[in-house]
Amino acid sequence: MSETVLSVRDVEAFYGKIQALHGVSLDVREGQIVALLGSNGAGKTTTLKSVSGLVRAQSGEIRLRDKPITTMAAHAIARLGVVHVPEGRHMLKGLSVTENLELGAFTVRDAQLRRRRLEEVFELFPRMAERRNQDASLLSGGEQQMLAIGRALMQGPEVLLLDEPSMGLAPKLVTDTMRIVKRLNERGTTILLVEQNARLALKLAHYGYVLENGKVRMQGAGAELRNDERIIQAYLGGAG
Ligand code: ATP
Repeated sequence: MSETVLSVRDVEAFYGKIQALHGVSLDVREGQIVALLGSNGAGKTTTLKSVSGLVRAQSGEIRLRDKPITTMAAHAIARLGVVHVPEGRHMLKGLSVTENLELGAFTVRDAQLRRRRLEEVFELFPRMAERRNQDASLLSGGEQQMLAIGRALMQGPEVLLLDEPSMGLAPKLVTDTMRIVKRLNERGTTILLVEQNARLALKLAHYGYVLENGKVRMQGAGAELRNDERIIQAYLGGAG
């Protein structure tokens, strides 16, 4: 079995006095897509934020391969290759597509490597290549999501944390986005995917976790969860 890239053990996290995570544990193995599912407020975003250091885990442990990262600063965690694409796309207005992508690689010192990654992103997203000199804020919602993912790829992620990449997109673009997630994974990127659309996420995911009130309630292989009656009732609209 492949190596565990990311392991989260018994993590508790708070916003002030409000406890958002009550001992979350999960594993992401090399080369996998792992889906994190659950209804609004279940703790999906908070789980990603505790991994990337944007929210501090109060207890528990998070490891990247064998390295504990639980108390590291967000920028240091990012530098190790834990790259978080938050919900919403956060383009920088007034900067071109290329400039936005280059910002993603500001920690990469090797200029040749930066150029190579940029070419790879353009190869993966021909739309970005066509629009490379355009102001990023003029891109459509779907294109901005591609740009956000492209910017994350510029950092050369060991593990990519994707928070609801399909949020707010038209149905066709949702399908396109999921296709991109699949392609990234086929090219070797390990992905922890938060997604409201459980049906789509479980089509792609090797493994999935269902969060409820800040706890893991269910877990299993993607296909297994997709066929689980409880999941179908709660998250797949009842009709398998
Ligand atoms: P959604 O799909 O709505 O983003 P989620 O599963 O990602 O939901 P979280 O955003 O992680 O859930 O929220 C977990 C819990 O923490 C919820 O009860 C939420 O109200 C609370 N919470 C999240 N962010 C904050 C915050 N900044 N301040 C206070 N409470 C928060």
